[in-house]
Amino acid sequence: MPRKIRVTVWGENVHERTNELVRHIYPQGMHNTIAEAIAEKTGLHVRTATLQQPQHGLTRRVLDDTDVLVWWGHAAHGKVRDRVVERVLARVWEGMGLIALHSAHYSKPFKRLMGTTCSLTWREAGEKERLWVCNPAHPIARNVGPYFELPSTEMYGEPFAIPAPDEIVFISWFQGGEVFRSGCTWKRGNGKIFYFRPGHEVYPIYYDKNVRRVLRNAVHWAASDGVRWIDSCPQVPARKAPEPLQVKGPRMHKEGQKGFR
Ligand code: ZN
Repeated sequence: MPRKIRVTVWGENVHERTNELVRHIYPQGMHNTIAEAIAEKTGLHVRTATLQQPQHGLTRRVLDDTDVLVWWGHAAHGKVRDRVVERVLARVWEGMGLIALHSAHYSKPFKRLMGTTCSLTWREAGEKERLWVCNPAHPIARNVGPYFELPSTEMYGEPFAIPAPDEIVFISWFQGGEVFRSGCTWKRGNGKIFYFRPGHEVYPIYYDKNVRRVLRNAVHWAASDGVRWIDSCPQVPARKAPEPLQVKGPRMHKEGQKGFR
């Protein structure tokens, strides 16, 4: 039996507590609605973490126990501590999947992994969005059909300042005429990354059945195969080298010393 994917949904959890409209749509918080969507029909173990928890709920232990991290943030990207960001990056490089949702294009982990500004154009006009599947064979687009629509959304438009994606799964068209690469994948180190655009907080987007299906598909796609690329020093101990090796010269590093973790 395949190993169950362990998912952590990270939510900034700010708008839900400060804006009446958002609280009305997501009374349990957006992170809990997203977690429910992923657990629905899959029976996956989904936990949540929020900005307000110690270490934003992303301790080393939690991240070590996470195969896929889902990230929603908007108003408080700058409040995410850099130490936690480094820990997230290290896990992605080792093999943890990352799904960045909507305004997480400006989150610290996503921007660091992309290495670009991730800027875009946007407009709040409650317009219709049509998400075209441009890669129907992709596992993330499974059972979605040729396209799906969201009746009212915030518009995101090109240019989207990301590095060229490995794959583009969805392209959005908006009522006002703009288009946007709304479902993109990359690999960084051993980790798979998926950016998925829908999710503006003043619309009930995470209740939409197609959005929920894409989230589940994406979790299955992004989950690692269980192989972790761990930073290690092959010099130490030298006696474990593949061939017999006599250590020569001065040594600057202690046994077991780690790099980025
Ligand atoms: Zn938004």
